[in-house]
Amino acid sequence: MPRDATYEIPASYDLFIGNEWVTPTSSAVLENRSPLTDDLLCTVPDANEVDVAAAVHAAKGAWRGWFALGARKRANLLLQVADRLEADADRFAWLETTDTGKPWRESKANVHTAADRLRYFAGVVRGFDGRTQPVGRNILSMDLREPLGVVGIMGAWNFPLNMFAGKIAPALAVGNAVVYKAPEPTPITTFELARLMGELLPPGVINVVTGRGETAGAALVAHPDVRKISLTGSSDTGRIVMSSAAKSLKRVTLELGGKNAQIVYGDADLAAAAQGVMLGAFMNQGQVCTSGSRIFAHRSIADELRDRVVGLIPKLRVGDPFDPETNMGSMVYREHMDSVLRYIDQGRAEGGQVVVGGGRLDLDAFPKGLFVQPTLFGAVEDDMTVAREEIFGPVATFHLFDDEDEVIGRANALDYGLAAGIWSQDLGRAHRTAQAIEAGRVWVNCYNLFPSGSAFGGTKASGFGREDAFESMLDFTQVKNVIMDYAPSRRSFYD
Ligand code: NAD
Repeated sequence: MPRDATYEIPASYDLFIGNEWVTPTSSAVLENRSPLTDDLLCTVPDANEVDVAAAVHAAKGAWRGWFALGARKRANLLLQVADRLEADADRFAWLETTDTGKPWRESKANVHTAADRLRYFAGVVRGFDGRTQPVGRNILSMDLREPLGVVGIMGAWNFPLNMFAGKIAPALAVGNAVVYKAPEPTPITTFELARLMGELLPPGVINVVTGRGETAGAALVAHPDVRKISLTGSSDTGRIVMSSAAKSLKRVTLELGGKNAQIVYGDADLAAAAQGVMLGAFMNQGQVCTSGSRIFAHRSIADELRDRVVGLIPKLRVGDPFDPETNMGSMVYREHMDSVLRYIDQGRAEGGQVVVGGGRLDLDAFPKGLFVQPTLFGAVEDDMTVAREEIFGPVATFHLFDDEDEVIGRANALDYGLAAGIWSQDLGRAHRTAQAIEAGRVWVNCYNLFPSGSAFGGTKASGFGREDAFESMLDFTQVKNVIMDYAPSRRSFYD
């Protein structure tokens, strides 16, 4: 797929409210620049309280009718969205790569994941029943699952399209209407999928606003008619959003940051483990919440594992994300790349040894491209900044360990608890470790797989709530209990 393919991006977007493009009252805009060329791709509104209120108003007017359609009709419409999205996969992937700089083949896979999330929830909602319990001779107690009404959803910028689809799918399937605040640096595919959905769904069911966290995001969290906020973002933002949501007693689910351990035991299949380490550290340029950036290697195999990884890193093709052979593209935006490079400098300043990489990558074809070399720090101390803080870039640290209890303690030592990888051919050990690890997702002898239907989410500072699975439908519903006497006695209450 050539970079100069002829798909269009509007010079500016308005807000998507009630299936229409609505000019915001706010005149402030955010510039969206190409991570490859620094050219202006488009501008999007920095929506204010009034604009967000208009989107909430549209959703408030829509959700009852949407719920009343029933699960079958809602599901059929979501299936149509998935079909249309996949039919337009090349364009969506092109837009995603243009906006994020991620490899084209990953963008293409992301389109299919987005469609799969929509299909999964369209399917599961057909069996998402309440519960009926006979509680006496004539009496039935019914737990009815009802939508919350208007829900506010905010996603991060690293997987804009499949995060949008994956987060809204359960909310819509069970009958809510959504106001989605798109991530600032990568809004394009969110707007384009909303445009497509607007051709199929009733007005107001899906609404998209853009803007900064402090403006549009804060307004969405504060709005009294929004019943729940579902956020994917950093742990710091999670703390702000949760405390602000408390003022109006909103529900929250938080998918937050991570600093995830990959534990490679002495009996691991090292060829497979080395590949898994590479995927964990460098997929999506390391801009993944589950990035397996802390590599714990058992001392008996540490040299061999490190040699294998060091040998694989130069084989990564970093560069033009539209080249089908490319494994790593650019970082998403300049300030973020600068932050990643600062972390690398800090790692060196604290005594860390860079084994491979360690800086920006200059490419003749992209003199302004935001490329960072895949970087590995050799045996580091656990308390170094690069080993403790989420870098969200292609930077991994290598740690040695001697036994199982020790490595579990060290893996659990951080406040984060999102994901972990375990590499061992001893399934007893792998399972013991998986149980002891404080994380919402543990991969054994694999990494970074995200199948629909597998509950995904964090513990500790990585948040709470589960996505991609049945549990998320519970999070987007509430139970109304109805107790019915279907043959009421006419006896007096006092007899
Ligand atoms: P971020 O926290 O800066 O922003 C996330 C969203 O929250 C954005 O839409 C932003 O505008 C909004 N926001 C920011 N401040 C706000 C405020 N005060 N009030 C209301 N809304 C506000 O995160 P980011 O930089 O976009 O994404 C990177 C982070 O997301 C990393 O920490 C990464 O680990 C995390 N992440 C987590 C998951 C997961 O599933 N657990 C997935 C992807 C990314």
